[in-house]
Amino acid sequence: MDMSKKIAMKTPLVEMDGDEMTRVLWKGIKEELLEPFVELKCEYYDLGLEHRDETGDQVTVDAANAIKRLGVGVKCATITPNAQRVEEYHLHEMWKSPNGTIRAMLDGTCFRAPIMVEGIHPVIPAWEKPITIARHAYGDIYKNTELTVPEKGKAELVVTSPDGLETRKMIHQFEGSGIVQGVHNTDSSITSFAHSCFRYALDTHQDLWFATKDTISKTYDHHFKDLFQEIFERDYREAFEKAGITYFYTLIDDAIARVVRSRGGFVWALKNYDGDVMSDMIATAFGSLAMMTSVLVSPDGKYEYEAAHGTVTRHYYRHLKGESTSTNPVATIFAWSGALRKRGELDGLDDLVRFGDLLEKATIATIEDGTMTKDLVNLWQGEKPARGVDSTEFLKAIRTHLEELLG
Ligand code: NAP
Ligand code: MG
Repeated sequence: MDMSKKIAMKTPLVEMDGDEMTRVLWKGIKEELLEPFVELKCEYYDLGLEHRDETGDQVTVDAANAIKRLGVGVKCATITPNAQRVEEYHLHEMWKSPNGTIRAMLDGTCFRAPIMVEGIHPVIPAWEKPITIARHAYGDIYKNTELTVPEKGKAELVVTSPDGLETRKMIHQFEGSGIVQGVHNTDSSITSFAHSCFRYALDTHQDLWFATKDTISKTYDHHFKDLFQEIFERDYREAFEKAGITYFYTLIDDAIARVVRSRGGFVWALKNYDGDVMSDMIATAFGSLAMMTSVLVSPDGKYEYEAAHGTVTRHYYRHLKGESTSTNPVATIFAWSGALRKRGELDGLDDLVRFGDLLEKATIATIEDGTMTKDLVNLWQGEKPARGVDSTEFLKAIRTHLEELLG
């Protein structure tokens, strides 16, 4: 690679800035690890809470539309306001989660994968490769309707068609007090989920597993299984065979047993609740939330890269007091490397693809060399002694490795 010239880009990336400590890291990553090496081309959207508030959250919608238009985005963590944030930032409204807005507009599925380094061992020693969780991000208990049943009574499910025809099914004849819940999903959402999963498995060259509780939920969960199988047979079986990867469905109980005994290296697709719970389990078992990457993939192949963690508020308040913090930038660096590599692949820019790879390599090499942020020091089991440094020092150490790798 000719290092006298910066690496060129063709199509701009959609850059979405964010909040608090991750906004500070964002700037540091660009200055230290990107701008010296790449002629960055970005369409910039400031999703920091103040600017979302000033624009009535229009900036989030504009950013999502830009991803639809340009194909690849990279996002910094952002605050999802609650009552306390409304006060803290004097907000006009309690704006919705930007991730929720973007996910809904792209109709995407969220894929989360741990970043592995030698010296930080997963709790399960057999896991040699990362396990990626694909979580369906719509419906089920996240869009539920619940009632408490105060006394004896009959609970029924009723579906009314446009011509007024009612289909009814008994849920339970209550003899005393209790509770009842109604949940739903749609074929359109499940279909998008399936396409995103099959595409992602092909993209990353990994097997795809899908698991639900269809033995108990013979209509609801079984419908997920059927739609996945149908779409696989029609659109993906051939491509999977050609790529030498497999798709298989199994009961969630069986999947758990297999995951624990596996060596990793596959994509595990899960319904909304199962994905929520299992992604926390996977993150913890692999080491740390600060080492989880996340990418939103739409069924028509648009990509949004980000870190899985939040804005690390407690560190930010310390930063505001002038203290140096040791906040881990790894997942945010990998959001950039993932986005640049994908942009390079789509635009046929080999140098940009290679830069994405080397940036990741340099980051991992820095940690494996014993230099890391303090959150990782407790997890460290490597041979070299661990040196806990602040974020700025850590970025500089990565830059040294990166310059070496770039030659
Ligand atoms: P968080 O920002 O992920 O932080 C939770 C705790 O995990 C931190 O206090 C810190 O522990 C540790 N941690 C997380 N990331 C770290 C990193 N990179 N380096 C070092 N330690 C790290 O979650 P939160 O405190 O629940 O949420 C804070 C804000 O982020 C909220 O306003 C929330 O809305 C937002 N959020 C945004 C996203 C997103 O944009 N994708 C996701 C989640 C949350 P210690 O303090 O013990 O060091
Ligand atoms: Mg969760």
